[in-house]
Amino acid sequence: MVNAKTRLYGLIGNPVEHSLSPIIHNALFKRYNINAVYLAFEVDDLDSAVKGIKALKISGLNITMPYKERILEFLDEFSEEAGAIGSVNTVVNRAGELIGYNTDAVGVLKALNHFTEVKDRRILILGAGGAGKAIAHALSRLAKVVVLNRTERKAKELEKFGLKGEKLSRESLEYYLSWADILINATSIGMNEDKSLIPKELLRKNMTVFDIIYSPLETRLLRDARKIGCLTVDGLWMLIYQGAESFRLWTGIEPDVGFMRKVALEALRDENQGI
Ligand code: NAP
Repeated sequence: MVNAKTRLYGLIGNPVEHSLSPIIHNALFKRYNINAVYLAFEVDDLDSAVKGIKALKISGLNITMPYKERILEFLDEFSEEAGAIGSVNTVVNRAGELIGYNTDAVGVLKALNHFTEVKDRRILILGAGGAGKAIAHALSRLAKVVVLNRTERKAKELEKFGLKGEKLSRESLEYYLSWADILINATSIGMNEDKSLIPKELLRKNMTVFDIIYSPLETRLLRDARKIGCLTVDGLWMLIYQGAESFRLWTGIEPDVGFMRKVALEALRDENQGI
């Protein structure tokens, strides 16, 4: 029951209306008997929103596009990892001090580890945007990583994590796809469209293919990969594991990811059916 002791958590970004996070986190609060609610806030003015977080003593937040990078300047502290990546997706309000974290990095590692070993593998990441950066940072500590990006400069900037960054082209794709044993799509290609950056004939059956997009759940890339027998991992796993890490930072509880995935799949099904 919502009462005078109910704590408030939320998401700030713009747009936020299709986010699954309120459904997932509210289901978790209920499951673990925590007196809290999670709301989505569509924010136009980040500066005022941050003042509001402190003034209203909001307990914790997720940050999404377009504020994951700009939020850093408003925080009292951030984790070493969030600072290195330059992006924050989770904020904890610790007695009035706002502390930032990047749980996308942990999320991707746990999502991959759910299916396969990551250590010492050869990983090709497509995309050096916000998500690509977090993924490259998390995986470069354990594995051999190459990043290909349409804008070469952004791929090269990631070399500070001790990995190789190159321009995305047919030649670089051919070369690194024959080298890699894990392929990760961290570009926006394939989101709500039947497109893939990878010509089907360049995929190999013994690869693990992870697409961080979850709408649709099976992207064209994952469909192509499944058809030739690759191990495929959908983007909902990353969403679940990054959300689980945010929940742990806010509450100290390691939530049940199987339960979170079930809730998220039901929400996606209802959305597709227009419920
Ligand atoms: P972003 O910062 O805008 O980066 C977009 C990336 O896509 C950049 O690398 C960009 O390359 C590349 N790109 C865009 N259009 C392209 C094209 N036509 N050809 C080749 N590359 C292209 O976005 P983001 O935050 O990293 O998110 C990327 C995707 O991941 C989105 O679809 C988002 O929904 C998804 N995502 C999923 C999760 C999850 O939990 N599952 C979490 C975060 C993000 P340039 O640098 O050349 O522009």
